[in-house]
Amino acid sequence: MTEPVLETRGITKRFGALTASEDIALDLKPGEIHAVIGPNGAGKSTLIQQICGLLRPDAGQVLLGGRDVTRLGAAARARDGLARTFQVSQLAMEDTVLQNALLGALGATARPWRFFGRALGDAELRDRAEAALAQVGLADAAATLCADLSHGQRRQLEVAMALTVDPRAFVMDEPMAGLGAEGSKRMTGFLSELRGTAPILLVEHDMDAVFALADRISVLVYGRIIAKGTVAEIRADRAVREAYLGEEP
Ligand code: ADP
Ligand code: MG
Repeated sequence: MTEPVLETRGITKRFGALTASEDIALDLKPGEIHAVIGPNGAGKSTLIQQICGLLRPDAGQVLLGGRDVTRLGAAARARDGLARTFQVSQLAMEDTVLQNALLGALGATARPWRFFGRALGDAELRDRAEAALAQVGLADAAATLCADLSHGQRRQLEVAMALTVDPRAFVMDEPMAGLGAEGSKRMTGFLSELRGTAPILLVEHDMDAVFALADRISVLVYGRIIAKGTVAEIRADRAVREAYLGEEP
């Protein structure tokens, strides 16, 4: 059996009387897209934050590459190859696409930031950054200011930055949010290819995208996983249709 790249065991998180995550077991295997869906307030973002190290669970473990990282912070998990993307605020808007990609590559080498001025001349860093931009289809935009990119291109740049650090796994919280129909379609094609580089744990509201992309789906309702399965299984699941897809029994 293939070892999961990322796994949660019995993750539980309470906010006062509210249990936002209840005994959640999930895993992510090489090459797959595992989607987590559920209505607003189901606990999707809370779960993602615990996986990334932004929130400490009350109980349970997070394993990355088989290692227990539950007590590590977000930065340490990122250095260990857990790529959380689409935090658009992390981009330096006044810098070019290439400069942003170099920042990502520089992070991968643990060199102090003060060497950034020389980074443009550093062939290895530049190679990494350019290869990552080519992979996300932004090679031609290398000299463009980040501020001039479209919403969708900024998300692709975030992925490029993650690629420079050699990610083991991607964790994405609603990457389609704010993209129009055309942008979502392009992002869907892009994510489909990206799973060959590293598997993706995908929280997404856009059901067309989820049904097109997911190898497996877990359905979260009121902090609990109520169903797991393939796209076909989830579409046919009675409890899911009633609880989430809004259909009458
Ligand atoms: P989703 O991402 O699925 O919409 P969230 O994980 O954001 O859901 O929220 C799950 C539940 O936990 C919601 O009821 C929300 O109000 C609550 N919640 C989230 N974060 C906090 C917090 N820091 N303090 C108290 N309650 C929170
Ligand atoms: Mg959310």
